[in-house]
This record gives sequence, structure tokens and C-alpha cells, in this order.
Amino acid sequence: MSEPGVVPRHLDGNAAAGALAELFGTDITGAMGTCTACGNRAAMAETHAYVDGPGVVLRCHACDSVLMRWATSRRTTWLEMSGLRSIEITVAP
Ligand SMILES: [Zn+2]
Repeated sequence: MSEPGVVPRHLDGNAAAGALAELFGTDITGAMGTCTACGNRAAMAETHAYVDGPGVVLRCHACDSVLMRWATSRRTTWLEMSGLRSIEITVAP
């Protein structure tokens, strides 16, 4: 959530498209995610993406709860997705 006069430092979920594709093996910006905290259902492209830290954080655009976060080193990826009740990934036939 943004406060008046405060410039948000997040981008939309499309900014994390490449990093998400590395995790899931396909573009999931169109996948529908459901927030555990508020139940909002929206495309991953609509999340608020914070990509300026050592990892990536995606927050719900409705309630600002963390949906998922991950960080990757040369050999390991740490992934936490407890803020997503579900994610619906449609694969093209
Ligand atoms: Zn939410």
C-alpha cells in the first residue's frame, strides 16, 4: 500500500518475469495467484515486485502481504511461498 507523497520502490510483477521463469521453467506472469492473507486472486504480473535486494520479494497488491520470496546463490535457491494459498499455472497445449 502506498502513502501519499511516498514514492513506492516496487515494480509490477513483470519485473520479476525472468527470475520467475528461472524458478518455474516457464513464464508465469499470467498465472493466477491467491493471497493467503486476504484471499485476493490476481495475475502474478499484478504483484508488487521488490527486486533491489539480495533476493526477490513479491507482495500482494491488495493487502501488501508477502506472497513469495526467494534468493539464489551459485548452487542453491531458497524459496518461501507460504503467502500464496495457491497458484494456477496454465500450460499451452
Ligand atoms: Zn493479499
